[in-house]
Amino acid sequence: MPDDRPGFEDTPRLPDSEHRVHDPDRPHPPTVTPAGPVTQSPPSDATVLFDGTSPAGWVAADGGDPEWTVTDGTLRVEPGSGDIRTADSLGDCQLHLEWATPADPADTDYPGNSGVFLADRYELQILDCVTAPIYADGWVGAVYGQHPPRVDVCLAPGAWQSFDIVWRRPRFDGDVLVSPARVTVLHNGVAVQDATEPYGPTAYRDYGEYEPHGPAPLRLQDHGFPVRFRNIWYRPL
Ligand code: MG
Repeated sequence: MPDDRPGFEDTPRLPDSEHRVHDPDRPHPPTVTPAGPVTQSPPSDATVLFDGTSPAGWVAADGGDPEWTVTDGTLRVEPGSGDIRTADSLGDCQLHLEWATPADPADTDYPGNSGVFLADRYELQILDCVTAPIYADGWVGAVYGQHPPRVDVCLAPGAWQSFDIVWRRPRFDGDVLVSPARVTVLHNGVAVQDATEPYGPTAYRDYGEYEPHGPAPLRLQDHGFPVRFRNIWYRPL
């Protein structure tokens, strides 16, 4: 299990921040108990990415068929098979998804790790923070390695949880960044990111620099744990 003070002291300083990436001294988010996950069926104009029956519309990292398992109406990470991403690219959108970390957490550092990569580059963290607290910017609901969630809304391992996301992709004029990405996130109905602007693509022990891109696939992370997903849909904005 991680020690009492997970994090790193040899990582880069974050821009305009007193903290460094994965700073062990960055305060953990205060805990809020939500009413529960927000289960929301897709509205009439939504594009459904997973309805519980098939992984159609998803591809493996190499472009082949995804090896994740569809079981009991859920899409489950097949550990070791790699990330999966949507075949289509998403631009600005409202995105809903529900997920559950394993009910029987692995006896290892940071069980239940997965993540939602917006535009294939910017990770919104999924983690079982009830079992294993992590450095603040790795918390569930964090823009990984950059922006901790405002509050900790993590439910018990095995419980279904929800993300409702409003995503604005970054804008570029040629090679020049005109406006950074912007993301608002409700975790189990509670705002944990409020128009947060990533510093660039997310990374482990580092952060990236913006490079020009347009609409891009949504990617879900295989970090070695059989995290389950269900009810994934989005509405273009
Ligand atoms: Mg992750």
